[in-house]
Amino acid sequence: AEAQLRQVQKMEAVGQLTGGIAHDFNNMLAVVVGGLDLARRRIDGPRREVMGHLTNAMEGATRAAALTRRLLSFARSEPLLPERVESATLIPSMRDLLDRTLGERISIHLDLQDDAWPVFVDPHQFENALLNLAVNARDAMQGVGDLTIESANVSLKAGEVGDNLKGEYLRISVRDTGCGMTDEVRERAFEPFFTTKDVGKGTGLGLSQIFGFVHQSGGEVDIDSTVGEGTTVSLYIPRAQAIANEDKVKVHPAAASLS
Ligand code: ADP
Repeated sequence: AEAQLRQVQKMEAVGQLTGGIAHDFNNMLAVVVGGLDLARRRIDGPRREVMGHLTNAMEGATRAAALTRRLLSFARSEPLLPERVESATLIPSMRDLLDRTLGERISIHLDLQDDAWPVFVDPHQFENALLNLAVNARDAMQGVGDLTIESANVSLKAGEVGDNLKGEYLRISVRDTGCGMTDEVRERAFEPFFTTKDVGKGTGLGLSQIFGFVHQSGGEVDIDSTVGEGTTVSLYIPRAQAIANEDKVKVHPAAASLS
C-alpha cells in the first residue's frame, strides 16, 4: 500500500510536469520537422544550406532528448528508505562537504540542538535536500555571505504551518544572506523545472525534489524571503515515533522497495 501511495504521488508530480514539458517538447519538434522539411526541399541546392537545415534539426532533436532524459530521471527517482536519523549527528558529518561546496568566502554557522528530536526519513534524501539548499544559498549569495543551518523542536497547532501539520516536528532552517526572492519567484519556486538560473546552471528540480521528499515524510516546507536581505527555507519533519512503533513501520518501506 505504501509503495502504491508513493507511485501515485510520483505520477501526480509527473502529471503536473507534462503540461509545460509537452509545450517545450513540441517547440523542439517543430525545429526538427522544419529543418528536415527545408533540407528535403532544397536537397539539390547548395550543400552548405542543406547542411545548415540538417544541423538545426539535429540541435532540436538533441535538446528534446535532453529534456526527456531529465524527465525520466525525475520520474525514476530513488525510492525512500526511511530510518531513524539524528540531525545533531548527521548535519555536522556533512561539514566538509558543505565547506567544499560553498567555498571559502561563505561562512557556515551550525546552530544545532543536541536534544533535537530524531526523525524517520531516508538519510540520503535528507542529505541531498540540505546540500541542494546550500547550493541554492551559495548561488543566491554569489559566493559571499553567511549560511546558517539551525534546528529546533517545535510543537505546532493546526493551521500554524501549512494545512495539515499538527503536533511535534523537527524544524531544520537553512538561512542565507543572499539576493532573496520576489513574491512571484517564491510562489513558483517548488514547480518542477522552474528556474531563474542560466541554462546549464539550474535544473529547476532542487526545490521540487525537496518538496516531494518532505511531503512524503509527512512534513512541510516553508520559504521566508526578503529581496535584498536573504532567504530562510524551513523543513518541518515529524518527530520519529517511539522505537516500538518505528520497528513496525520500518517493515513497510523496505518490503515495498523490493516489489
Ligand atoms: P535551481 O536551483 O536549479 O534553479 P530550484 O528548484 O532549487 O532550482 O530553485 C528554483 C528557483 O528558486 C531558483 O532558480 C531561484 O530563482 C529560486 N531560489 C531557490 N533558492 C533560493 C535562495 N536561497 N535564494 C534566492 N532564490 C532562490
